[in-house]
Amino acid sequence: MSNTALMPIPGQIDPVPVARDITPRADGRVDLLGLPKQAISELFAEAGLDAKQAKLRAKQVYHWLYHRGVTEFEAMTDIAKTMRPWLTERFVIGRPEIIEAQHSTDGTRKWLLRTADGHDFEMVFIPDADRGTLCVSSQVGCTLNCRFCHTGTMRLVRNLTPGEIVGQVMLARDALGEWPKGRMDIPEEETAAEYTADGRLLTNIVMMGMGEPLYNFDNVRDALKLVMDGDGLGLSRRRITLSTSGVVPMMARAGEEIGVNLAVSLHAVSKEVRDEIVPINRKYGIEELLEACAAYPGASNARRITFEYVMLKDKNDSDEDARELVRLIKHFKLPAKVNLIPFNPWPGAAYECSTPERIRRFSEIVFEAGISAPVRTPRGRDIDAACGQLKTAAEKKSRAELDRLAEEKQAALG
Ligand code: SAH
Ligand code: SF4
Repeated sequence: MSNTALMPIPGQIDPVPVARDITPRADGRVDLLGLPKQAISELFAEAGLDAKQAKLRAKQVYHWLYHRGVTEFEAMTDIAKTMRPWLTERFVIGRPEIIEAQHSTDGTRKWLLRTADGHDFEMVFIPDADRGTLCVSSQVGCTLNCRFCHTGTMRLVRNLTPGEIVGQVMLARDALGEWPKGRMDIPEEETAAEYTADGRLLTNIVMMGMGEPLYNFDNVRDALKLVMDGDGLGLSRRRITLSTSGVVPMMARAGEEIGVNLAVSLHAVSKEVRDEIVPINRKYGIEELLEACAAYPGASNARRITFEYVMLKDKNDSDEDARELVRLIKHFKLPAKVNLIPFNPWPGAAYECSTPERIRRFSEIVFEAGISAPVRTPRGRDIDAACGQLKTAAEKKSRAELDRLAEEKQAALG
């Protein structure tokens, strides 16, 4: 079994990262999903192959694993027939387990997934006319407790491993039927078109599912490297966006070591309001955050930073707020665009969504200052798949269970 531990609730701000090494399964086999070529090669060498063989086999297996989406060694046709059982005895290529798959009336799809040690998390696929975006989770739950976010109310958290993160992308490709077809030893069966991302259903990835990706930096980086590797899943870093609530000390490293597009959950322009709704602000304030944005490696007018701004009625949605947002962006000379997100309600939330007129006016003010400020259309609301609605069914159930127990207790006390 795996050796993961649960994270205790660490309070408002500080995370408790939990490292996880390569863990053999109950049957002793090692799961290769999430490992880079070098690590696969080392495992093969430890299992008895000489250095040259280990390297060659790792290269082949890596290609089948990430580029073809193959999960059985038997299907790896350029590996000697006698070699395949040797691999099957020692290794597996896993996937997160699918517990439930839901389909929204607007085409959005949500999957409830389970890790090998029994933690549930979610991923969402959002199809559009010109693109298909997969919203990937980085943690089970989130330690940050933003007041308007359902995920932030989850009690238990653990970091997802690189395998569980890249596994979401693999699963989506499985479900969408998007792996290149054909056998590798018969190249004429394939056309170059099968290898390009264009025209594919899954074209973009956003690290905007459950969790704060920069509190699970190493695993998110390692997973995204596999996603971006031309020999692997081969998705361009320009099609990947990482969203952070503002973990300032990790932002420069994110730019340098991952290099994907940056989105920042700003949501408020004054200390008072941001302290309330995005509590990490008490640790890293707005000025510090925007300075880190200005210094973000790779940001330019061609690759703007997205500022996410959730529209909360009478909280952060006034004309003055919009003007202050513009002032801040200009003051820090940020190559920015603003994404206005209508608040997605969930049971027990303390806020309401701004009115459509208010959102329109807010958008106009920002737009008139020369900054793009589209309003994001909520997607998948009917299956709780929209921004900030992610919270696993298992957790919801346990809450309901707790409420029921509390009621019973109350009744017993008379
Ligand atoms: N933890 C990261 C990424 C996941 S949240 C972050 O906070 O940036 C993805 C986006 O959804 C964030 O901008 C988040 O603030 C927003 N969000 C959370 N709850 C929401 C809700 N109820 N309605 C609308 N947007 C929400
Ligand atoms: Fe965590 Fe992001 Fe939700 Fe805040 S908005 S609680 S950082 S997932």
